[in-house]
Amino acid sequence: MLELPAVRGTLTAQRSLADLTWMRVGGPADVLFQPADIEDLSAFLAALDPSVPVFPMGVGSNLIVRDGGIRGVVIRMGRGFNAIDIAGDDVIAGAAALDAHVARKAADAGLDLTFLRTIPGTIGGAVRMNAGCYGSYVADVLTSVTVVGRDGAISEVGADTLDLAYRQSTLPDGAVIVAARFRPAKAPPETLHQRMTDQLAKRDATQPTKDRTAGSTFRNPAGFSSTGRADDVHDLKAWKVIDDAGMRGATLGGAIMNTMHSNFLTNAGNASAADLEDLGELVRKKVYDSQGITLQWEIMRVGDRLDEDTAK
Ligand SMILES: Cc1cc2nc3c(=O)[nH]c(=O)nc-3n(C[C@H](O)[C@H](O)[C@H](O)COP(=O)(O)OP(=O)(O)OC[C@H]3O[C@@H](n4cnc5c(N)ncnc54)[C@H](O)[C@@H]3O)c2cc1C
Repeated sequence: MLELPAVRGTLTAQRSLADLTWMRVGGPADVLFQPADIEDLSAFLAALDPSVPVFPMGVGSNLIVRDGGIRGVVIRMGRGFNAIDIAGDDVIAGAAALDAHVARKAADAGLDLTFLRTIPGTIGGAVRMNAGCYGSYVADVLTSVTVVGRDGAISEVGADTLDLAYRQSTLPDGAVIVAARFRPAKAPPETLHQRMTDQLAKRDATQPTKDRTAGSTFRNPAGFSSTGRADDVHDLKAWKVIDDAGMRGATLGGAIMNTMHSNFLTNAGNASAADLEDLGELVRKKVYDSQGITLQWEIMRVGDRLDEDTAK
């Protein structure tokens, strides 16, 4: 076990991460740290050997954790980080608060964070990924975030410092978001609650929301195709190019490209992380070979493959 500072929260060595992710796959973290509160997190990071990698995670709804697991310390926040406060026209949410809970509480106060209602992650993950749907993104409403740096320093920084772009930010590696402040538009609570009911129904009708997935597997391809010709521009849906490559319903081990929505890579029951990632790579190859389009992963793949470990 790594040499670790004393904490008030929980440190668990060799903790499997599979049950902490939506895909239900993945090997262990060398150490899983569940801090008691922000001071506990800050003191731990300040005292931790700076060479030890740190990976914060939410509820793993955008992750494939590889079968060999994650080296270093995985940080997962819980109760000490899930407060949701309404402060005038602002919503302040802890990093571990679930997006859906934040959307509902904001709606009760007449503040529109409805787009978060159908995204199954936490506020930390939503900020890091600039999560969004139905035309709204975190970047539209985020004003500042409270961050604990890899050195343990606590700071509140403006949203502009994160350079939020499509599903990405410039948050430094190892930095942990502990809270976020939003300034949403206002609307009557009944309107907001009705919108969320409609959006939930729309999701359930079009996406496999109950399956073991990590949401959209690939970004919608846009831009030039492989010919590079100025007139050869496309603006396509990932599910369509996957369908055109004949990969809807394709399987590998326990992984399947969902038959309800072909851009949802799914653990059909007993998939390994390698099954899922390799099926994703096979889809990318088939799409490229058939249409000259390079699909980019939207799901983050983290940690070590088992085959790489064994080969060492
Ligand atoms: C059914 C389904 C539907 C989805 N639909 C959408 C959608 O419509 N729009 C959308 O944007 N996404 C969607 N997603 C993807 C996913 O829910 C989002 O990306 C979500 O924001 C991830 O949040 P998380 O807390 O689960 O983060 P994780 O998946 O645990 O982590 C994702 C990334 O965020 C980082 N991270 C997490 N917490 C912190 C923190 N506190 N501090 C610093 N970094 C952190 C992790 O290190 C990692 O890099 C969907 C997923 C599923 C399963």
